[in-house]
Amino acid sequence: MLEIPTALRWLYIDLNSYFASVEQQLQPQLRGKPVVVVPTSGTDSTCAIAACYEAKALGIKTGTMIYDARRICPTLMIVPARHDKYVDYHHRIMTEIERHIPLTKICSIDEVACRLMGDEQKKDNAIALARRIKKGITDNVGICLGSSVGIAPNRFLSKVASNLQKPDGLTVIEGQDLPGCLLHLSLRDLPGIGRKMEQRLASAGITSLQSFWDLAPKHARSVWHSVQGERFWYALHGIEVSEPPETKRHTIGHSHVLAPQMRPRHKARMVARRLTVKAVTRLRRLGFHASLYNLYVRYDIRGPREQTRWQSHVKLPPTQDNFAFLQALNHLWDAIPKTQNAARIKHISISLYGLIHEEDIMPDMFARLEDPVARNQKKNTQLSQAMDRINGKYGLDTVVIGALPCPLSPHTGSKIAFTRIPEKAEFHE
Ligand SMILES: [Mg+2]
Repeated sequence: MLEIPTALRWLYIDLNSYFASVEQQLQPQLRGKPVVVVPTSGTDSTCAIAACYEAKALGIKTGTMIYDARRICPTLMIVPARHDKYVDYHHRIMTEIERHIPLTKICSIDEVACRLMGDEQKKDNAIALARRIKKGITDNVGICLGSSVGIAPNRFLSKVASNLQKPDGLTVIEGQDLPGCLLHLSLRDLPGIGRKMEQRLASAGITSLQSFWDLAPKHARSVWHSVQGERFWYALHGIEVSEPPETKRHTIGHSHVLAPQMRPRHKARMVARRLTVKAVTRLRRLGFHASLYNLYVRYDIRGPREQTRWQSHVKLPPTQDNFAFLQALNHLWDAIPKTQNAARIKHISISLYGLIHEEDIMPDMFARLEDPVARNQKKNTQLSQAMDRINGKYGLDTVVIGALPCPLSPHTGSKIAFTRIPEKAEFHE
């Protein structure tokens, strides 16, 4: 018989409607009103990437298309995303939380998990700590920045607990509450179970949380086709499961959905140039060289996948030089089919693969300075680095290569992946 742990070892903080809350914090006229945040301004054919609770109360949520949202609420406030502000507040919030407890793992821009130690593991103390953190954030960072906190025997359940009460929640899951306190959830409500996994579980006859709970752990592994299933089963039962080792970084990229006025092909090309320089700047800052440049474009039309998307790549000797990648882009851009379908481009994604860290580069690569190609490459890399320093010091776009795609949002590409917080430096790239 599995012994369910009793100690409360984790505290998880999740900010409520984070992007929308930051906007309400910065723009007091938005407070108390239904607000959504959108990735690009000037179009209804995009979806909300965040909705405040006033909007959620009307049935508007993350993912709702703006034309639907406007129909539901004609007075809806639609705010274009300002990711630099969200990153700035992220750092302020983390600094505040750190005054109360060390941060064990920052899970996303608005979520952090903290390990409880010693007396903090006692229920009353953990609750008091959670209240201090919540109050610290609203008092010292911003009154609009509500959060939900979960406290549980392991990190997974602490996240689940943080989802149980929103907004402004504080939920404790103790070993003895399991599985009863979770049985009202569907499997899809659990972090890590998406639509595909739900289908796979259903075809194995597992359609409720109780039926998953009752499985043997080995059976969970076979349903998942991986050890992950067994790990997930133990996590749900409150057991501390060790983290798999961090995967090595193997790609750097930037991607952007273009505002409608930037979609004609010749303008989209400028966005692609900008994204490329941004990705390569990041590559240099992280100390990598890349040997494969991939360009993906999606056309501004509806239709089957093979008629609406195009991608290709160029292999290069390992480099971190802007000009080498811009040349690769030129080459690929000219290869995009010149069909009517590709007259307008909606989405561009740039990826750099084959990453090698500077320290792992053969020393002779730069030693061969007598070689004119190597010498030229070194010169270009130095020029690229000089541009980084100037843009870092005097601000974004002080020095650019070629024309700047106006009116391009200044934050092209520094989109928030929910699992990756852009480093502050990226906003100057
Ligand atoms: Mg959140």
